[in-house]
Amino acid sequence: MSGENCIFCKIIAGHIPSKRVFEDDKSIAFDDLNPQAPTHILLIPREHVDSLDKASNAEELGDLLLAAASIAREKGFAENGYRIVINTNSDGGQTVFHLHVHLLAGRPFVFPPG
Ligand code: 5GP
Ligand code: ZN
Repeated sequence: MSGENCIFCKIIAGHIPSKRVFEDDKSIAFDDLNPQAPTHILLIPREHVDSLDKASNAEELGDLLLAAASIAREKGFAENGYRIVINTNSDGGQTVFHLHVHLLAGRPFVFPPG
């Protein structure tokens, strides 16, 4: 899949509105429309990549994760902690096929027991 008809590419282009919380030359971050935590931010590369499975640029992936950590730190979540999620393909629960990092914070997260 290319970036055509990709909702996140439309958000990058400004054709779909979003509440941006960060942007640089490589990535943008904005509030998730359907937050699963008090803070739920999506961080995406400006360059369309379908999923983590299709990612091949280690530097871009590293930059994306470091940007997520930096946003979390600036928002004061580093001490208590936060959760980073990259849902990948269908069993991973990926619904938007433009690589994205979920930054979830503001409440504790625990894996279900068992
Ligand atoms: P996924 O399930 O693919 O890991 O995550 C996709 C996320 O994108 C979901 O959490 C969903 O709420 C969010 N989302 C889908 N469409 C839009 C949109 O148009 N605007 C924003 N801000 N978030 C969206
Ligand atoms: Zn896209």
